[in-house]
Amino acid sequence: MSDPGTVCTSSPEGQQCHGKVPFAVPPGPHSRAPTMCPTFGALRVGLRMRRTASLLCGSACCVYGLSFTAHFYGARRTIGYLPFNSETLVTGKVFEDMRDAVEKLADPERYDVILVTNLCVPSASGVPLERLPKQINGVRVVGLDIPGFGVATHAEAKDVLSSAMLRYARQEAELGPVMAPRGGVVEKPTVAILGEIFPADPMSINAMIAPMDLAVGPTVPVREWRELYAALDCAVCAAVHPHYTGAVREFRTAGRPVVGSAPVGCEGTADWLEAIGVAAGVSRERIDATKNAILPPIREALARAPIKARITLSGYEGSEFLVARLLIESGAEIPYVSTAVPATPWSEADRAWLESRGVIVATRASLEQDIGAVEEFKPDLAIGTTPVVQKAKELAIPALYFTNLISARPLFGIAGAGSLAPVILGAVSNKGRFETMKRFFAGVGSDNVAEV
Ligand code: SF4
Repeated sequence: MSDPGTVCTSSPEGQQCHGKVPFAVPPGPHSRAPTMCPTFGALRVGLRMRRTASLLCGSACCVYGLSFTAHFYGARRTIGYLPFNSETLVTGKVFEDMRDAVEKLADPERYDVILVTNLCVPSASGVPLERLPKQINGVRVVGLDIPGFGVATHAEAKDVLSSAMLRYARQEAELGPVMAPRGGVVEKPTVAILGEIFPADPMSINAMIAPMDLAVGPTVPVREWRELYAALDCAVCAAVHPHYTGAVREFRTAGRPVVGSAPVGCEGTADWLEAIGVAAGVSRERIDATKNAILPPIREALARAPIKARITLSGYEGSEFLVARLLIESGAEIPYVSTAVPATPWSEADRAWLESRGVIVATRASLEQDIGAVEEFKPDLAIGTTPVVQKAKELAIPALYFTNLISARPLFGIAGAGSLAPVILGAVSNKGRFETMKRFFAGVGSDNVAEV
């Protein structure tokens, strides 16, 4: 074990890391935030969009891994692959191949946009995506450099994609009329949501802001190109995930106010409704009346689903602080929460709220630090990334994978208030089974025992 506080002090791109923590951090190779290949974030978003083609340029092993993972997660789309070799890379022929491929793909009957992504090698080699045509036959071409050495997490790659598309759409809207959303234009002023959320969350948010005469707008990352225009046309952008800093820049350039945090629990919802109402120019009476109507049922829902457990929490989705707030308002003890994404102004209120309740809060946290927290606090439940979950189970500590089992649940408003208790309490009650398994498998699979 290293001494407390000797964890990394800066991330690869120079942002401040998490600084010192008052517990020992095991040695390990990472010392940086855990993430899969960052391109996966942007690829997954692109594959979910209608009338969108995705073309990857990178090493075959990288593209194989990305396409395997994308299809494992249910992508039912073709992923275009532009191969290269040393010669085409050195002579620049790879760029000509890329331009030819884009021209062949650009069928306006099938596509609104082609997303062309440089992986590590072509990014490092400077394959000039900016020299691709901006559009071909009316099909937009959006080039993205997403190297692992430049984009720190797959969560932030979603912002690279979303901000590039918002910029393109904003410039189109500045030139003249653009397509309306598929469901028609919403008459009320809208709140665009920035960050991927549970499918029912927009309905919950809509119900909460309706008394202020606001309606929920599109969620960014969008599911279709023309939603970008409607998103930019919002009254307020709600940056519920804090790492979409590039997209925030586009909203601000479009003259839209941006509000951080999210309507989680009672206090989080009160603060968020206040900030949204003020940003949208809603009257004081209406803001207060909305809070008076929305908050009591949330308070009651939290009281009906108490969580009495000590929980450490870490992840790489960007919603970790929100989940921690919800758990604390549900009665849980959270000694430590970390996220792989950086600190931004949009998570500042959540960080301050958590720290005021004695929580150790970490951004850009390394895997080793997250494991150190589990060893230090010996929680009833560890919520984390796959290797954190694996380590916790080795220690006979019940554990849940943040991405699949926690972040894929409603978090906001009344629906969010009781949503985590069943899965959390179910997992915590498995402690005895983990102890039994640990005794049964004692000594198996650890250290050198084969004597070969
Ligand atoms: S980070 Fe770079 S090297 Fe690693 S899989 Fe992604 S593209 Fe390939």
